[in-house]
Parts: sequence; structure tokens; C-alpha cells
Amino acid sequence: MQGLSVRVRGIVQGVGFRPFVYQLAERYGLTGWVRNTNTQVEIEVDGSEEGLKGFLHDLLDCTPPLARIDAVESERRPASGFTCFEIIESQLDAGWQSIPPDAATCEACLSELRDPGERRYGYPFTNCTHCGPRFTIIDSLPYDRDRTTMSCFPMCGDCRREYEDPRDRRFHAQPIACPACGPKLWLQMADGGLAQGDPIEACAALLKGGSIVAIKGLGGYQLACDATNPEAVARLRARKRRWGKPFALMVPDLEGAKQLCETTAAEINALLSRERPIVLLKQRPGTSVAQDVAPGIDTLGLMLPYTPLHHLLMRGFAGPLVMTSGNLSEEPIAIGNREAVERLSDVADAFLFHDRDIYARYDDSVVRALGGAIVPIRRARSYAPAPIHLPFTARRDILACGAQQKNTFCLVKESKAFLSQHIGELENLETLSHFESSLQAFRQLFRVDPRIIAHDMHPDYLSTRFAHDYPDPSVMRVVVQHHHAHVVSAMAEHGIAEPVIGVAYDGTGYGTDGAVWGGEILVADWSSFKRVGHLRYAPMPGGEAAIRKPYRMAAGYVWSLCAASEAEFEAFIATVPVGERIILRRQLETQLNTPLTSSCGRLFDAAAALLGVCREALYEGQPAVELEALADPQVDDMYPFDLLRDGDGWVVDPAATLRALWCDFRAGRSISRVAAAFHNTVAAFTLAVCRAVRDEHSLNRVVLSGGCFQNALLTQRLLEGLVAAEFEVVTHRLVPPNDGGLSLGQAVVAHALTAGD
Ligand SMILES: [Zn+2]
Ligand SMILES: [Zn+2]
Ligand SMILES: [Zn+2]
Repeated sequence: MQGLSVRVRGIVQGVGFRPFVYQLAERYGLTGWVRNTNTQVEIEVDGSEEGLKGFLHDLLDCTPPLARIDAVESERRPASGFTCFEIIESQLDAGWQSIPPDAATCEACLSELRDPGERRYGYPFTNCTHCGPRFTIIDSLPYDRDRTTMSCFPMCGDCRREYEDPRDRRFHAQPIACPACGPKLWLQMADGGLAQGDPIEACAALLKGGSIVAIKGLGGYQLACDATNPEAVARLRARKRRWGKPFALMVPDLEGAKQLCETTAAEINALLSRERPIVLLKQRPGTSVAQDVAPGIDTLGLMLPYTPLHHLLMRGFAGPLVMTSGNLSEEPIAIGNREAVERLSDVADAFLFHDRDIYARYDDSVVRALGGAIVPIRRARSYAPAPIHLPFTARRDILACGAQQKNTFCLVKESKAFLSQHIGELENLETLSHFESSLQAFRQLFRVDPRIIAHDMHPDYLSTRFAHDYPDPSVMRVVVQHHHAHVVSAMAEHGIAEPVIGVAYDGTGYGTDGAVWGGEILVADWSSFKRVGHLRYAPMPGGEAAIRKPYRMAAGYVWSLCAASEAEFEAFIATVPVGERIILRRQLETQLNTPLTSSCGRLFDAAAALLGVCREALYEGQPAVELEALADPQVDDMYPFDLLRDGDGWVVDPAATLRALWCDFRAGRSISRVAAAFHNTVAAFTLAVCRAVRDEHSLNRVVLSGGCFQNALLTQRLLEGLVAAEFEVVTHRLVPPNDGGLSLGQAVVAHALTAGD
């Protein structure tokens, strides 16, 4: 007999780790104990040489599905003389504990759900230690039932037995529930009347009949309607006041997804993953989905059911459902029953309610295949707040407040970064209060007390003002330039600290010269950057108005960069609404309310507008999204561009590009060729600058970040070019390339700038 001590760290609590250890010990005939502490799982075992070896091997090799092991220490010692194996009492104080995010219903629970012989047959709140809600129902740590929104449901005898049996997969499953003791579901009509019969069947019938139903999901309400019913979809748009922006769909199963969209192996894996995100996929032509679900684009956002409630509903409905966040445009997702009635009664015809409260708002996450990898576009339910491991240990806690759009915040504690779920556009009081309450919850859950606060350079971002108004005068504030933060966010994900060539392409970011940046090539490390390349400045007549009306941006380009003659400007201005022509010209002449921008997003806007693709942008990035949808990826034509020297950096002048594009368009060339040639040109001039910078700075690693890299064609083209030129290329995997990932970069820059203090 010999003895073995093991310490396991990572996400090993709330995931069935102790029962797993218990069963392993039984299998290998070991005696001893296992227990949780705040920071780890501790194991002491006695057994034969062979038994201990097998135990240790399986411990690492067959871990429960939601567990994530970061570190294991094991040490041989003499046998202690244990007589049996037991799970002993936890040693938890008020410290911090790692638990997994919410996970989709597991196979075992799913088969119970479908088996008429099981006591949880058809029960919409079935879960176990391998699946179910976590962060959406936790109030504080340590993670146990009393501190979740399940505390008001006392367990019945059967559930209690499962909960206490280390051989059961519901051993210490905090949200455990059954029809006898758990949450209940009901369907209420908008007028307050209760629907008769089975609520899920009644809900499916309403949806079949073209109604809009607000469904209480995992991280908030979702609004559902029949995706094949154009009239229902149009009504949802009108009531939600959401124009143009595509709706996500839930389909019953993988087959349902394949009927609507083309899928690669990586995309199928993403659809089936236990995070169950919305996956942006290429739509097949001629499907039954209403045109208005995703107007003007060739992709659909699809997800598979991820709660028992969704599984039951999708089986009853048996077709694609629009499944979009339960809110009005630009507001946070609704979570409370009364809140849902208050906010959504003008939108929904009925409410599928239940009485398990949602503690925290989590939207559905969105991912897309970019350059062959699955990349988050919106990181929320089931991803956040899983920690991101940092390549350093911070001595003081850091809060990074994020950007204005697609806001997330980031808390750093020691070597972990906790990036919040997607908060949204920080433009109104509702979203700001979502930001503040989520921050409060995170600070409590992860025991973080920020001593350093990082924020963007933009003085008017609400996140910047929040940082300034932070009530603790002793915190140190650090300003981080937007595109520097983008580049560092991707570096940090990959543990890269050495200087890189950073390509940061997005819509808007405050520059050190006060201009609107967004087509930036930097030489950057964590603490500093040098702007070594950018797009030539173009005027944005009307400022914000130029973003909403892309033809204004095109007018700006034609006026200052590519007009060969007054006649050419006249020809373009003739395509602009009559009422705006005079003022546009005046703004360009006087530069009144006409900031300068080097934004790559705005260059895409201008190209789209010149081609008459998107007259008015109804949502952020719409012109670029539509331009990408039109581009034929088989085309490798390219337009000219100029690379100019400016001090010791480079300026890309796309005037020749836009002129050639416009000529082609007016000459009647196919728009799919022209759109593709434009994408190819952006990739080509970016590659050209990277080459020049490589020669001058002896750097070979290129980091791509910024919202423009949600464009799959641009990303693919640029990756191909960079790889062919033997660059090492780094792209996002864990956080979004858009402003949703910005707070991670801000936090790392703040750490680097204050590490010596
Ligand atoms: Zn399960
Ligand atoms: Zn029960
Ligand atoms: Zn940005």
C-alpha cells in the first residue's frame, strides 16, 4: 500500500468533480477522501501502485464535461491507513471560486426528457451537474443552492436523494429540480388571461398561427415567431422597432440547420458545442425562411436548442423560429416576469413564463468562422465569464471599462481576466445600469477590488465618464488608445508580449490627434505603440450623419480624394437626395461639422454607397456586411492604390481604388466582381504596408483586430496574402475582434503601464 496527495485547480467545482473522483477511487479500489476548498479540489488516497497510477491517469484523462483543469500537483507519501473512501466537508471561506458558465442540456438529461418512463419526462427544467444554468442564477459565492435563484424551491425527497448520492450524476447539482418540487411553466396572453392545457403545446400552436411569443429563456427573454411567416416577421420588426438588422433563428436539430445553410465541420462543431452559440452560416438559396429575417445578406444566424424548454418547444413547433433578444432596439434584454410585461407587452402576443428567476442578463452568444477558425462575435451566454488566462500575474486588481459600442468590461485578478458578457451600446440609461449592476455582481462573485481603472481616450464615452466618476479617489486611472487596445487584446489572448505589427481596422476610435481613427497599422507592445501606417484622412460631412448615410461618406471621398474634376463631383452628387446636396457641398467647402477620419469601416461605407448598395445604414456596419454578401470570392481582380510616405510612416491613399471602382460600376460591370475587387484591394494595400513595416522594424508577426475583421472575405484574403509572404499571423479566438474584446486589451495595457509603480 502507498499513499498519494493530489491538488487540482481550474474549473473543478459545480461540475461533478468530487463524484467523479469518488467513482474513480471505487474503480481502482482506493481509500481516502476528496474535498473542495476555495481554490482547489484536494484528494488524499491510499492504494496499490497500479491503482494509484490508473487513478491519476484517469483523473486527467476522463474529466467531467464542464471541468477545466488548469494545474495538478501530486505527491507520493506513505499510506495513511484510510478504511473507506468518502467525500468530506468542504473548506470554503468567503474567497474566490471558479465555476463554469451555463451549459446546454446534456445527452443524459435529454434522454430523460424524452422517456415517458422517467419522472422528468417532458419537464422543462431538467438539469444535472453536467448541464444547466450557472451564472444566470447565481447571486453570490460560494456556489450552492441557497445563493441561487433556486433557493425558493425546497427539494423533494427524490431530488434530495439524488443530490446526496455521490454515485448520482445530480450529486450536488445546485439547480436540481423535478416536476414535484421545481419551477413551473405557464402561458399567459398579453391581456393577462391564462392559456389552457399544456403551455408548451399551446405556445407552439400560437407560433404556428403567426403570433409573437416572449419566452423566458436562460439569460433573459427571447422573442419568437415563425421564421417562415413573412407577415409575423414583419410584425416583429415593426413592434420591436428593429429595422434591417438580421434576426437569429433556432432550428430543431442539425438536420434543420443543414436544410437552411451550408456548413463546414468546424461550424457543425460550434452548433453542437455545449455553449450552443448562434453560428453565422452561409444561407442556401431558396429556403422557406422569410426574406425579412436577414434582408440584403447571404448569411443566417442559427442556433440549436440549449435548454429543455427549447427542446420541447422545438419538437412541438418542428420548424425554424426567429429567436431574438427580448428587448426594444438598443435596450438590454429583459429578465424579470413583471419587467417583461412592462417592456414587452406591446411586442408579444403572449408570454411563456416560469417562476425560476434569472439573476443576470445574458444574451445569446454569436460566433462566425473567420479564416478557418471559429471566432466569437458576441461573447455572452455560456462563454462569459469563463476566465481568460493572462501571461502575467497582476499585483493589483484592474477594471477596464471597455468601449461605447458592444460594450464589455474586464476585471483582472492575479493571472485571470474576467470579461463581462456583452452589455450592449452604452448610449442610454438602461444599458448603463446593466453595466453597473453587472460590474457590481462580478466584483462580488470574483472578490475584485479595482485599484487601477483603464478607459478609452474618447472623452464622451459613457464608459470613460464612468471611469472618471468612479467613487474611489485612490484608484489610478489609465487612458488607453482604442486601436492600441484592439491589438493588445489579440496579443494577450495568445500570450504575446513582444512588439508586433498590429492591424486595427474598425469603424470609429478616438485618435491621439483628435481625428477619428480606424484604418491603423501600429507597431505595438503592451505599454506603447507607434502609428506606422494609416488610411489617408477623408472628410466625414455631418459627422455621425455620415455613418448613418454612407453616401455622405462617399461624397467626402469623391470631394477630397478622388475627384478628377468638378464634373466628377457633380456626377456623384446627382445621386444624393436633392435636399442634402447644397448642405453637403457647404460642409465639404467649409469643413463645418466635418471631422477627418482614417476609418477602414468608413472606406467600406463609401465603396458601398458608390455602388448604390446601401443608401442608409440601419445598423452598425450594414454597408460592409452587404458589400461582403455581394462579393464573388472566386474573383481575384484588384484595383490600384497609392502608398505614400508620411514622416517615418506610411499612408494608404485609396483614391485610385474608389475611382476605378466607380468607373467599373458606371460601365456596367457586375457588382459581384467590383465588390470582390474592392475587398482584394483592401487586403493588398494592408499587405503592402505590412511588408514595408517588416523591412523597417524587423518584425514578422502581424496581429489582426478590429470590427472589420468580422468580414470573412477580407480576413480570408488578407490571411492568404500574409501567409504567402511568410508572416506569422495572429487572430482572435477567445474574444471578439470588434469592440466587445476591447476591454481585455485596455486591462493588459493598464497592467503594463503601472507594473513598475
Ligand atoms: Zn444534464
Ligand atoms: Zn424534486
Ligand atoms: Zn474598435
